[in-house]
Amino acid sequence: MSTHLCSPQHVLVLNCGSSSLKFAILDATTSDEVISGLAERLGSDTPSIKYKYNGEKQLIELAKGQAHDAAIAELVKLVNELGLADNLIAVGHRVVHGGEHFTESVLIDDNVLTAIEKTAALAPLHNPANLLGIRTAQQAFSTLPQIAVFDTAFHQTMPNIAYLYALPYSLYKEHGVRRYGFHGTSHYYVAGEAAKLLGKEREQTNVISAHLGNGCSVCAIKDGKSVDTSMGLTPLEGLVMGTRSGSIDPGLFTFLTQQLNYSVQEIDDLLNKQSGLLGISELSNDCRTIEEAAVEGHPQANLALDIFCYRLAKQIAAFLVPVQRLDALIFTGGIGENSDIIRDKVITQLGFLGLECDEAANLAARFGKEGLISKGQAHAKAFVIPTNEEWVIANDAARIAKEG
Ligand code: AMP
Repeated sequence: MSTHLCSPQHVLVLNCGSSSLKFAILDATTSDEVISGLAERLGSDTPSIKYKYNGEKQLIELAKGQAHDAAIAELVKLVNELGLADNLIAVGHRVVHGGEHFTESVLIDDNVLTAIEKTAALAPLHNPANLLGIRTAQQAFSTLPQIAVFDTAFHQTMPNIAYLYALPYSLYKEHGVRRYGFHGTSHYYVAGEAAKLLGKEREQTNVISAHLGNGCSVCAIKDGKSVDTSMGLTPLEGLVMGTRSGSIDPGLFTFLTQQLNYSVQEIDDLLNKQSGLLGISELSNDCRTIEEAAVEGHPQANLALDIFCYRLAKQIAAFLVPVQRLDALIFTGGIGENSDIIRDKVITQLGFLGLECDEAANLAARFGKEGLISKGQAHAKAFVIPTNEEWVIANDAARIAKEG
C-alpha cells in the first residue's frame, strides 16, 4: 500500500532554549512540514509565538512574563484548533547534552530524566531548559510517547585519542571532563545526504562536514561514523563563531584574572558573547552584515572573515588525519548554506587537495538549495547541503514510538 493512503504520522518536534521554544510538526512518512514556529522572549515583558501554517505567517502575543508552560499551553490549543492533534504519534525533544550516557535517541522515562538531570552540570544553560520542555510537554501531551534526541550522541563513536584532553586522567574518570561535540544531528543528516549524492552507502563514505551558523563546528566522519569534531566539553571549543572565540590559549584565563582583574563570569561572557566575528569586526555577529561591510572595504570586517575562513580551512585540513580518504566536504548551517564568499575562500585555501570552486555553482547554491560546488577531477567533492535537524528528530521519534 502506498504511504499516502495510510493515515499521516505526525511528530511534534520541540527544541527548548532558556527563553525560547522552537517547534514543528513533521510528517514522519513524507518529511513534509505541517506547521513550524518559534516562541521567543519567554519570561520577558513581551513574549510571543510566531508560526507558519499553510504558507501563512501568524503571531500570537503572550501576556507579560509568560514562560514555557504558557507557550506549550498555547501550542496545544493551536494544535487542537487546527485539527492536528489526531495525527500526532510522538513528541521528539532536542536535548543538547547526553554526556557519555546516551549514544542514541531514547524513549523518555524516569531513568532517562534522571540521567539528563545529572548531565546538566556539563550544560548548565541548555539541559535545564530541555528538561523544562520535556516535563511541560509530558503534561500537555500525556498520551504520546516522548523521545529525546541528543546533540552529542552522534559523536559517541569518537575514539579516546580524539575525545580526551591532555589533563589529569582523574578529571575525566571522576567528573566526565572530555570532548563531547555538538551539532550531532546536523552532521549525521548531511553525511547521509552526501552519501546519497555520491551514490554510496553511508557506511562506506568519508566526509568532513562544516556546520556554520551562529555556532560553528566541523566533524570528521569516517565510514559514516563521527571520529572527531571541533567542539569539545562545551560548544565554545574549535572554530571562530558569531560571538564565540573558539579555541584560545588557556593561559588567557590567568592573564585576564591576574593582569586585568576579570571575574570568572566576565571571562565567560567575553569568550561566549563578545568574541568571534563580533569581537574581531567590532561591528556585528551576523555574517551578512560583516560580508556587506567587507565588500565596502571595512578593514576589521575583512579581517573577521579572513580569520574565520583560515581557522575553518585549517581545521578541515587537520581532519584529513582521522578520515584519511576524503569523499566529500560539506557546507551547511545558515552561513554554510548561504555564504558563497566564505565557501570560496575556504575551498581556495584547500586547493592542495585538488579542490576547485565552481564559481557559478557556488553562487547558485543558497536559500536552501543543495548543490555540488566544486569542479575538476579531484576525488573529493564539495557540496552545499541544507541541514534538517527537525527531520532527524521526527524520524527517530517516529521509529522509537513504533518500537514501543
Ligand atoms: P543559523 O544559526 O544556522 O541560523 O545561522 C545564522 C548565521 O547564518 C548568521 O550569521 C547569518 O548571518 C548567516 N546567514 C544567513 N543567511 C545568510 C546569507 N544569505 N549570507 C551570509 N550569511 C547568512
